[in-house]
Amino acid sequence: MGSVKDYFSSLGTGIASLLKGMQVTGKELVTRKITEEYPDNRLDGPAAPRFRAELRLKYDAEGNHKCIACGTCERNCPNGTIKIESKMVDTLTGKKKKLDRYIYDLGSCTFCQLCATTCPTDALEFSNDFEQAVFTRDKLVKKLNYLPEKEEPAPTPEQIAAAEAARQAKIEAAKAAAAKAKAAREAAAKAAEGAADAPVSEK
Ligand code: SF4
Ligand code: SF4
Repeated sequence: MGSVKDYFSSLGTGIASLLKGMQVTGKELVTRKITEEYPDNRLDGPAAPRFRAELRLKYDAEGNHKCIACGTCERNCPNGTIKIESKMVDTLTGKKKKLDRYIYDLGSCTFCQLCATTCPTDALEFSNDFEQAVFTRDKLVKKLNYLPEKEEPAPTPEQIAAAEAARQAKIEAAKAAAAKAKAAREAAAKAAEGAADAPVSEK
């Protein structure tokens, strides 16, 4: 008797399970399809707008980027994917650090976006061009500052001399301020010492 009861119990469980499966299948039958027909649709840009394909520098209409070669992205990258090479150039206001080469290895990037979100000048973004396949790994290592950069206007010898004089004046002013502060501290200490040594008057 027990085995008949078990039989019908199992049958009921099986039918319930079957109905549940058919319910899922039925729902998927009427749900809008999201499968991409790649590569047939490769010309329509199959990637979603937020898809992160590769890191790149943002360029404005004149071809300038905003990277100041601070190295924040390089330090924050967990994989050592970024290498910043900088150089010092003479400008009208003295020496200035500039980006020389921004090297990015797409092959080791995890697309975490830490580099872009921590960049202080908002110089980075991700492209969403889907097709990134290449035949050799070395082709995944890219120089992101690929556009020729505007040269800083070269300072004249007079401008260099004026910048140097201004720098020296700043240094002298800082030294004078430090000496003044030191003298004030010493005078205050002496005054405090004198007050401590003075005899206590009797009442
Ligand atoms: S991309 Fe941004 S964080 Fe990276 S070096 Fe340039 S300015 Fe600094
Ligand atoms: S997205 Fe992440 S892994 Fe890729 S370069 Fe930026 S910080 Fe490094």
